[in-house]
Amino acid sequence: MAPQPSDLAFVPFVSVDNMMALVHHIGIETVLRDLANAIEADFKRWELFDKTPRVASHSDVGVIELMPTSDGEMYGFKYVNGHPKNTKEGLQTVTAFGLLADVDSGYPKLLSEMTLLTALRTAATSAMAAKHLAPKGATVMAMIGNGAQSEFQCLAFKAICGITEVRLFDTDQGATAKCAANLAGMGLNVVPCTSGEEAMEGAQIITTCTADKQNATILTDNMIGSGVHINAIGGDCPGKTELHRDILLRSDIFVEYPPQTWIEGEIQQLDKDHPVTELWQVITGQVPGRRDAKQITLFDSVGFAIEDFSALRYVLGAIQGTNFYAQLDMLADPDDPRDLFGMLQRSKH
Ligand code: NAD
Repeated sequence: MAPQPSDLAFVPFVSVDNMMALVHHIGIETVLRDLANAIEADFKRWELFDKTPRVASHSDVGVIELMPTSDGEMYGFKYVNGHPKNTKEGLQTVTAFGLLADVDSGYPKLLSEMTLLTALRTAATSAMAAKHLAPKGATVMAMIGNGAQSEFQCLAFKAICGITEVRLFDTDQGATAKCAANLAGMGLNVVPCTSGEEAMEGAQIITTCTADKQNATILTDNMIGSGVHINAIGGDCPGKTELHRDILLRSDIFVEYPPQTWIEGEIQQLDKDHPVTELWQVITGQVPGRRDAKQITLFDSVGFAIEDFSALRYVLGAIQGTNFYAQLDMLADPDDPRDLFGMLQRSKH
């Protein structure tokens, strides 16, 4: 019998190839909806997770981060980088892998690529937040920054929030053309635009997903009318923000984990006593999300470990009974657990 993902001696490994095959097997919009449900379910049990701001190692050109968490039964972490200069060298800005382990034994249960999975979980989280925060009946989204994350964002907002039109803008017109071509035939009205202002015409939701290692001003205050929801994805490092501070002062701000967002999010521009709302409390119904039609809501997304944990658990479930993984021999299994040396000697010729 073929080894199963639960086989103790092996660790199932989901490669990039297998992740692509798995997503197509299930269907990308179903995956996005499933992930949003999985993340929402874990946000509902937020308080029982071990939480810490991610551990970041910064350089002049980027950041490498570890993102750990545990719900007491499973432990997960993601390794992820952010290097805005990479695309010019033919490399991804963001690349990642992650691991899920059993808390009881400490044994790994899953190793997975997470570059695709990060794009999927980030989009699912954004749309899940917008379900609670965006104006009811929103159908048009401006998508500013048309790089690697952008199509995933657009499709998640279609599948989860009912968006029917996306208005694309990027300072690199090639990125907009790429995004528009990828979204063709996917059931969205796709409108390429030549400025941020044009992209925002008629949009009830504005997603910013740009990459620059600096405090950029992708949106200025005069661009933002009342009643919109802003989904700010790209400001996710110290010194790397996308919105003018005045927009923050006019918005009700929702965050994942405040100790991390104060370091990495748009709110690093604000005084530390500025009120922010934790998204999990909206999801559990403890505090309201959108209260009225004029309110500007802002999801200051930086990406939190629980979203990766939810995504890894989803993948572990999804590969059961499939061939979308390989078995990795990454655990020693000596006949006598204390005879590790004896196990080594067995392979001596
Ligand atoms: P990418 O490099 O593939 O794409 C970024 C795009 O932004 C590029 O096409 C670039 O031309 C465009 N851009 C740069 N400055 C711009 C400007 N002023 N106006 C309009 N467009 C501009 O990067 P990506 O993988 O799509 O990631 C985008 C951002 O999202 C990164 O900063 C990344 O760190 C962040 N991110 C956040 C999360 C999260 O959970 N919040 C998750 C993944 C990625």
